Amino acid sequence: MTPDEHRALREALGDYAIGRLPRDETSALQAHLDGCADCRAELAEISSVLPALRRVDPARLDHTPFPPPDLGERIVSAARAEGARPRQRPRWLPVASAAAVAILIGGAVGYAAGDYDGIPREPVAVQAMDPAVQATAVAIPHTWGVEIVLDADGFRAGSTYRVVVEADDGREVGAGEFIGTGENPMICNLNSSVLRSDASGFKVLDAAGATVLRGDLTAT
Ligand SMILES: [Zn+2]
Repeated sequence: MTPDEHRALREALGDYAIGRLPRDETSALQAHLDGCADCRAELAEISSVLPALRRVDPARLDHTPFPPPDLGERIVSAARAEGARPRQRPRWLPVASAAAVAILIGGAVGYAAGDYDGIPREPVAVQAMDPAVQATAVAIPHTWGVEIVLDADGFRAGSTYRVVVEADDGREVGAGEFIGTGENPMICNLNSSVLRSDASGFKVLDAAGATVLRGDLTAT
């Protein structure tokens, strides 16, 4: 792999983390992640702040003492110095710089700092069948099972949804329920007894049992 090819893969990590990477690029990136500890570490870092990132209201940033006003510039120049390829801004940069903002904001409100316990959070590619649903998810491997943190809005307000984790052996194990919040964003922690190594995916089911969102846990 040439340095340019590797850089392109790294730059795709941000899109991958938020589930926006095209499918054909996703498999190439997942294959690369298997063999590249550097990229895995960077992905874990990006993923750990994604839930906080969604809470940042850009309109309020101007009125906040954090972050330093030149933060964006400093990140851009650091990235330029490292990448030395000015013709194309790295695709992960908006995520990374906003993530840095989210860390600072999170520190201020005690969200990101208190929520991140040092266990790596793994981004999960999610697919919503309902176009109204906007969602990202991370999987957290625990000794007692896998936890799914679902950060979403657009689930029908007042409706009950059930979440099941799918195991390699075909079992579907309940991971909890939540009530849709409509346009209001929610962060829902869903716990199951399926170990991460045995989990292949998860599904959000509506009251009628129809799948409204799927998450893929087959990637490592
Ligand atoms: Zn790599």
